Amino acid sequence: MPRRNRRTPRATRGGRRENYRRGKPKPCAVCAQGGVLDWKDASFLRKFISDRGKIRSRRVSGLCPSDQRRVATAVKNAREMALLPYVGTR
Ligand SMILES: [Zn+2]
Repeated sequence: MPRRNRRTPRATRGGRRENYRRGKPKPCAVCAQGGVLDWKDASFLRKFISDRGKIRSRRVSGLCPSDQRRVATAVKNAREMALLPYVGTR
């Protein structure tokens, strides 16, 4: 997922972060491609796991709630089929 150069959000005293994600929220990546999600598509699912194999949180992945669940299931499915790695125990 390409990340645009954005200033790091600064935590303010009140707990509210300024200058963070203003404007339109980025559309969910699964919805953007018509809602199709296949656990066999390992290269697509790889975008939603960290380099150590952990599933990215919704805040990071930017998925909508239903798709986050579907992606999580798909990743687990792909892991079982040895398409994706399990979380490393390093
Ligand atoms: Zn979605």
